[in-house]
Amino acid sequence: MDFRSPVRRQRRRLCSVALVCGPSPDNRVRPLRTYVLQARAFMSSQSQSARSWVVRRTRLPLLSLRCVACPSKSATVGDGRFRVNANGKLLDVWLLARCVSCDRPRKLTVHERMPVRSFDPAELHSYQIDDPELVASTLLAPRLGRRNRFTLDWSHAWRLETSPAHSEEILPFRVDVVFDDPIPIRPDALIALGVGVSRSEARRLVRCDLPLNRPTRSGFTFVLLDRD
Ligand SMILES: [Zn+2]
Repeated sequence: MDFRSPVRRQRRRLCSVALVCGPSPDNRVRPLRTYVLQARAFMSSQSQSARSWVVRRTRLPLLSLRCVACPSKSATVGDGRFRVNANGKLLDVWLLARCVSCDRPRKLTVHERMPVRSFDPAELHSYQIDDPELVASTLLAPRLGRRNRFTLDWSHAWRLETSPAHSEEILPFRVDVVFDDPIPIRPDALIALGVGVSRSEARRLVRCDLPLNRPTRSGFTFVLLDRD
C-alpha cells in the first residue's frame, strides 16, 4: 500500500517520465536539449529552484613526478616561480618545482628557445613577476604535464561548496555543478560528498546523463530523487 501523499506520488511519476537530467549549458549536448527544457519546466512548475554546487581549488595541486634523487614520486611548485632566461633574441621559460621529500629542484619547461618578439609584453611581465594566475594556468594546462611527463595530484587541493542543507520535503530537486578549475572528479564521489551518502547510494538516488563512475572536469546537472 502506498502511504505517500498524492502530490508526492505525482512528483515521483513525473520525475521518472521526464528523466530529469541533462548537461550544463557549457556542455552543449544538443540531443538532450529537449529533455533538459522539459525537465526545467517541470521543476519550475513545482516551485523548486535549482541548487548550485561549486568545485573550487583550494591550493595548487601536487605533481606526480618521480624524483631522480630519492624514492619520492611527488613534487610541488610551492607558491609558483618562473625562471626566464634570455639567450640572444631567444627566451627559455621554466616553472620551478621541487621534490616534496628531499627538496631537489626541477625545472619544468614552459617555453624553449622562443623568439622574444613572439611574447606579448604583458605576458612576459607576468612571467617575470611570478603572477599567481599565470602560475596556475600554466601548471593546469595539459600541455605542461605532457611536455614534462607528470600528472596532477588533486588530493586535498579542492573543496565542494553546496547550497543550503537538503530536506526530504522538497525532493526531487535539480543540482547544477560548476567547476571553477578542471579538476577530475567522479560524479558519484562528488554527489556522495555533497549529499552525505555512500557512492553506491548516490548512484541509486540521482538521475544524470553522465557516467557517474567516470571522472569529469566540467560542469554537469543531476537530479536528486526521493530516497524511498
Ligand atoms: Zn626527492
